[in-house]
Amino acid sequence: MVPGSIAHHEKCPQCGSGLVHLEWYERVNGQEIHHLWRCWNCKNEFVTVLTSDEKEPPVTEITEPFFTSLLV
Ligand SMILES: [Zn+2]
Repeated sequence: MVPGSIAHHEKCPQCGSGLVHLEWYERVNGQEIHHLWRCWNCKNEFVTVLTSDEKEPPVTEITEPFFTSLLV
């Protein structure tokens, strides 16, 4: 997924402008994605947290069987 493909309707909390650009994003866990936005109008930067409904398996579910087999 590329940042430009994300449909958004974020508004700058400082000036209320809808001309915001997604600068950067990071998935912090299975459900939460943090987005860093920059406002074209006032150059303000702000972060939003997107809670995803995607049932993407957490990393722990993938690594757990591996560690379990090491212990046996
Ligand atoms: Zn602004």
